Amino acid sequence: MTTVEDAQLTGAWELPEEFRMLRDTVRRFMNTEVHPLEDTLPHDAPGLPREQLLPPQEKARKLGLWAMQTPASYGGAGLSVLGQVVVAEEAAKCRMGAFFPALGAFGGNPPNVMFKASPEQFAKFAQPIIDGTATKACTSISEASGGSDPARAIQLEAVRDGDHYVLSGSKMWTSHAENGDWGVVYARTGEGRNGISCFIVEKGTPGVTFSRINVMASFAPFEVHFEDARIPVGNLIGEKCRGFTLATDFLVYGRMLYAAGPIGIAQEALNMTCRWAEDRDVFGGNLADKQGIQWMLVECEVELRAARLLMYQAAWNADLGKDVKVDASRCTAPKPPSRSWTGAFRSMVLSACPTNCRSNDGTATCGSNVSAKAPRRCSAS
Ligand SMILES: Cc1cc2nc3c(=O)[nH]c(=O)nc-3n(C[C@H](O)[C@H](O)[C@H](O)COP(=O)(O)OP(=O)(O)OC[C@H]3O[C@@H](n4cnc5c(N)ncnc54)[C@H](O)[C@@H]3O)c2cc1C
Repeated sequence: MTTVEDAQLTGAWELPEEFRMLRDTVRRFMNTEVHPLEDTLPHDAPGLPREQLLPPQEKARKLGLWAMQTPASYGGAGLSVLGQVVVAEEAAKCRMGAFFPALGAFGGNPPNVMFKASPEQFAKFAQPIIDGTATKACTSISEASGGSDPARAIQLEAVRDGDHYVLSGSKMWTSHAENGDWGVVYARTGEGRNGISCFIVEKGTPGVTFSRINVMASFAPFEVHFEDARIPVGNLIGEKCRGFTLATDFLVYGRMLYAAGPIGIAQEALNMTCRWAEDRDVFGGNLADKQGIQWMLVECEVELRAARLLMYQAAWNADLGKDVKVDASRCTAPKPPSRSWTGAFRSMVLSACPTNCRSNDGTATCGSNVSAKAPRRCSAS
C-alpha cells in the first residue's frame, strides 16, 4: 500500500518542505523588496529603470533567486520545473507581475532554445542576459495568421542568399520586442511543420521595424516587420527546418510557467476579495456571512486549487523526465469567464479598490464607495 511518505515523493499532494521554504523566501522578498519599491512607481509604469532595479537584483542574487530557469552550469540557479512554478506564482504578485515578475529582480533567462544554440551563439547572446548585463530577449512566433497553430500559421519567409537569410513578412504580439537587444524569430524555410527555422535577430538589423500594439495594459506587445532583412547564416539556431521542434520545446515548457503567473495573480485577487467580504457590512450583516457570496468564493477557491494542482503535476512530471505535452496543455489559469470569478471579482474586488487603485498608504484613491482602508496585499494563503 502507498504510504503518505510515498505519496509525497510521487507528488500526491502537498508541496514538499524544500519548496514550501522556497515559496516563503520569495514571499518575504516580495513583501520586503518588491512591494515597497512598486509603491514608489507611477501606477502604470511599464517596467523599472535599470538603476532602480540593481539594488533588489543584488539582494536576490545573494538569496540564490537569480536566473532560475537557467542551468547552474551556465550561471543560473538551475531550479527544477516545480521550483520554477512555485517561484513564478509568488513573483507574479505585484502590479507588473504578468510581464515583469518581481519587477525583474530575479534576473533574466535567455529563451530556452538558446540552450540548444552553438557555444559561440550562447556566449555572445545568452550569457550577458544570465550575467545581468543585457536585458530580456523576445521570442517571436505568432503572426496575424494565428498563434495557436504556429506550424501552419507561420508565413514569415526566410530565403538563403549567400551568407545570409533574407526575412520578409510580419510577426504579431511580440512582447519585449523593443526593449531587448535581440530576439528569437521563427520563419519559414520550407513546407509544413518541417519547414520552420529559428533565427537570432539583433536589434538594429536594417529592414526590421516595430509598431506598438495598444492593449489595455501599459506594457504593450509589438508587431515586428521584416522587409528584406538580412540575417547572417551564423544566426540560425540548430539545423535549418528543425525550428518547429525547438518552438515546441519552448511552448510546452512555457505553458507551465505561464500558468503560474495568472494563478498567483488570481490567488492575490481572491485573498483581497475574502478580506473585503470580511470587512464589509451590508444590510445589517457582514458580507462574508451571505450564503450567495460564500458560494462564489468557494467556487473560485476550487477552480484555483484545481489549476494549481494541474500545474504542479505537469511540473513534477517534467522533473521526472516524462513527456509532458499533454500535462502542460492542461495547465491553465483559473477560468476567468466563469460566473464565480466575474461575479465575485467584479462586485467585490473592484469595489474594494485593489492595489491598483490605492495610494501609497494603502487607502483607496479611486473615489469609490470605500470608507475603510482598502485591503492591501493580503498575506497569501
Ligand atoms: C499580451 C500578449 C503578448 C503576447 N506575446 C507574445 C510573444 O511574445 N511572442 C509570440 O510569439 N506571441 C505572443 N502573443 C501571442 C499569443 O501567443 C497568441 O495570441 C496565442 O498563441 C493565440 O493565438 P491567436 O491569438 O492567433 O489565436 P488563434 O490561434 O486564432 O485562436 C483563436 C481562439 O481559438 C482557440 N483555439 C485555437 N485552437 C484551438 C483548438 N485546437 N481547439 C480549441 N480551441 C482552439 C484559441 O484558444 C483562441 O481562443 C502574445 C499575445 C498577447 C495577447
